[in-house]
Amino acid sequence: MKYQHIKKLLLVLIVIVVNGCATQPEPIKLAESDTKLFGKLKTWEIEKISERVYAYRYTFYRNFFLIGDEGVIVTDPLTVDAASILNKEIKKITDKPIKYMAYSHSHWDHVSGGQIFKDQGAEVVAQKKCKENWINNPNSNVVEPDTTFEKEYSISVGGASLEMYYFGPSHDNCRVVFLIQPDRIMFIADDANPPNGLNMIYGAGLADTYIFNLVPYFLKAERLAKEKRVKSIIGSHMSFEDRPMNLVSGTIGSIKSLKEQRLFYQYTIDAVQKALDENIHPKEIPNYLIKKGVLKDTIVGFDEAKMQVLYRRMTNYLLTGE
Ligand SMILES: [Zn+2]
Repeated sequence: MKYQHIKKLLLVLIVIVVNGCATQPEPIKLAESDTKLFGKLKTWEIEKISERVYAYRYTFYRNFFLIGDEGVIVTDPLTVDAASILNKEIKKITDKPIKYMAYSHSHWDHVSGGQIFKDQGAEVVAQKKCKENWINNPNSNVVEPDTTFEKEYSISVGGASLEMYYFGPSHDNCRVVFLIQPDRIMFIADDANPPNGLNMIYGAGLADTYIFNLVPYFLKAERLAKEKRVKSIIGSHMSFEDRPMNLVSGTIGSIKSLKEQRLFYQYTIDAVQKALDENIHPKEIPNYLIKKGVLKDTIVGFDEAKMQVLYRRMTNYLLTGE
């Protein structure tokens, strides 16, 4: 082959690889509220991602639903009001029955309001420990699951299915990784919100987070994403481009936010460990790290007040293991 030909072939290959990595589904807005939430953003919106996959954002929260040949799978109902709107909007798209409702984790702010789907005969699915949480600490707006599983579970509605993977405690003790098939889209509630995974997090206190398993959890999720050739992530919360109040919808994006979210946790843990190794008094660590400007240029939307809380939380974790 002539040099010119090789050069041409290489160029074509580069274009294929670059496009292959960069192409993300373009969500199509199907419906939105009349009321505004913030700036240009409406209170809620429904977006179509593919023939089978739809995203629903209600305030700062997002879930998704799948429509297959035999019915519908809904995920976290969010709140009574959010679920009621979602139910109405689904009926406008399809007359197929709601077959399943799958919970991502046990936090009330994501899983309230499911009764409307249960009343239509939906089978409610959750990881086993979520059910234990709701038995120990019930909430009248949270419908208990009919079906629980330990490690892996999959539900299907004909041509669209939802795989669930449990990798141990993380953001709570029962959060699962959702994998939408055949679209190869991942969803991890409360974490990994496109476009950036190294964004300042909302709840810097990580009060209910099992920090010891965060990094291993994400490594397992990343391995799964690689094995299953996952293409995209649906963000469970809205994200921002630069400043925390410069919000973007962030419905779907590259799986790079998965690795970036792991690095966010890894970097903050490492920064505190380094300070401890330098014999900085634990009480002084947040001020010390902020004064030194650690991670200031790495974390998008770096917020000193939140970093104070986060560094204190990580210090406590490194001293106690919890
Ligand atoms: Zn949560």
